[in-house]
Amino acid sequence: MSRSLSFSELTSYFLQLEETRSRNEMTDILVDLFKETPNSEVDIVCYLVLGQINAEYEEEVLGLGNKMVAKAISIASSKSKQEVQELFRETGDLGTVAEKISGETKTLNSFFGEQKELTVTEVHQGLKDISRFEGSGSYDKKLRTLAGLITRADKVGARYIVRISLGKLRLGIGAMTLLDTLAKTYTGDKKNRPEVERAYNISSDVGLVGKKLAYKGHKGLEDIEVEVGRPIRMMLAQRLENLDEVKDKLEDRFAAEVKYDGERMQIHKKNDEVKIYSRRMEDITHQYPDVVKAINQSIGSKEVIVEGEAVAYKDGELQDFQTLMQRKRKYDIQKYVEKIPVKIFLFDMLYKEDSLLDKPFPERRKKLEQTISENEIVKCSDIIKTTELREVEKFFNKSVDEGQEGIMIKSCSKDSIYRAGAREWLWIKWKKDYETRMSDTVDLTVVGGFAGRGRRSGLYGALLCAAYNKQKDIFETVCKLGTGFSDETLEELPEKLKPFESEKKPARVSSKIEPDQWFKPEFVVEVLGAELTKSPVHTAGIDTIGNEGIAIRFPRFIGFRADKKSEDSTTTKEIMVMYEKN
Ligand code: AMP
Repeated sequence: MSRSLSFSELTSYFLQLEETRSRNEMTDILVDLFKETPNSEVDIVCYLVLGQINAEYEEEVLGLGNKMVAKAISIASSKSKQEVQELFRETGDLGTVAEKISGETKTLNSFFGEQKELTVTEVHQGLKDISRFEGSGSYDKKLRTLAGLITRADKVGARYIVRISLGKLRLGIGAMTLLDTLAKTYTGDKKNRPEVERAYNISSDVGLVGKKLAYKGHKGLEDIEVEVGRPIRMMLAQRLENLDEVKDKLEDRFAAEVKYDGERMQIHKKNDEVKIYSRRMEDITHQYPDVVKAINQSIGSKEVIVEGEAVAYKDGELQDFQTLMQRKRKYDIQKYVEKIPVKIFLFDMLYKEDSLLDKPFPERRKKLEQTISENEIVKCSDIIKTTELREVEKFFNKSVDEGQEGIMIKSCSKDSIYRAGAREWLWIKWKKDYETRMSDTVDLTVVGGFAGRGRRSGLYGALLCAAYNKQKDIFETVCKLGTGFSDETLEELPEKLKPFESEKKPARVSSKIEPDQWFKPEFVVEVLGAELTKSPVHTAGIDTIGNEGIAIRFPRFIGFRADKKSEDSTTTKEIMVMYEKN
């Protein structure tokens, strides 16, 4: 039998990763880890370091409740449920509790008999089983399996099994750091990261990429192709400050579409099986049975991937994003299908019996129009193919008058491929908040909180917000956000941010400011600012303009962006471009 990595070897690397704040060191530690990992377990290790048990898009997610995990810890130790709860209240982290008390007396040891050392494959299999048990008796099965794993692990292992099962591992490693590591370990050079990243962008499965690389090196990447049923990481848009610049970027080869104010959907259809993925790669099919039905009625082809924006629709009018968000639910789905009907405006076709990613946009659009027959729900996005900027501006005004966000301007050149996972100039967004000097809202990641005073005492008074530096895979601060919050929002904040609290500055955060509370960079908010200025206290773009960063002045909170991941935040590079144009 081939060698297996023991779980305690894996967690010894977890301990090292928790100790470092430098991303380079993290990559070095991870390279050492992968050198120790047998090829057959590379995918599992990829998932586990990210705190997952599968590719992000797969439905199997853990996120067990505190109560069940506390009970499992109690079974695996000599402590009663009450004692475990008491320790949980003291420490605030069940992982620490499990570490502390597991191994004191292992009541299940006699049940399991003498065991060999726990391997990563066994832990992964156990966690997968837990996520899959369903129906009657499933609660007990989950409980027993988890207690069994905790019992067999050593103390440090118990800590991490508990954190993973709660969905709270949070070692601070992003997918991009992992891709760097894989490139370095298996192709010998971090420079190959773009090809590795492309394989990840079209498969959304870092485990698959890792395993192919481990077995076949660089060549393994050729095996990874677009597959219906496996989401493609979505293409994103750049922003402009001034409409005239469209011509500099795209010359005369572009078309403009309405930028709808809704939720992006990537829809995969294989025969009559339809799956819908959100921008975060979550499978949201069950929330939209109406869209599933309408897509089946609209598209006859066997294997298709299309993209579009779903928008709430009521009394003959399109509604805003917040209205649509009421459809984000587990229960009462049918009631909300009727209460908040939607339309889906399709704007791209990525696959039709074969991948279309490398075809230019006009060809993809034509295929889309030929393939779908419109119905009550499924529509093609509104598009104009003029290169007259005056016409584009009129189209923009009409779109805004109709309550939409603005327009998307898309390259129609022969190079206008679908660039999975990339934010480049092939798509340009032009939004309506152009009356302020900062013409667009930005999406920022919350990395810290400041205690409120007076009316806000006991709550957060302001949040420390950061932009994403994609090159370094870190979050750099740009503003302290203290206005625009309703009383209701302020009250919700502590609860919403609690899962991300961190005792020290997280590894991927770059900040000169010390907030009262650090947060792991996971929670995204939308912010509108008045202007950008140089600042000695913020770190965004700090390497580019000497030892000062860029700050957003007079930032206002606009809303939560639960649909975005922190890596989808506005990038430092975009902030720099906005600054230079100011
Ligand atoms: P932003 O979230 O501001 O970066 O803008 C990009 C988002 O606009 C995409 O992810 C889509 O969800 C949305 N969108 C709305 N209408 C369109 C369209 N016609 N083409 C592409 N994206 C669109």
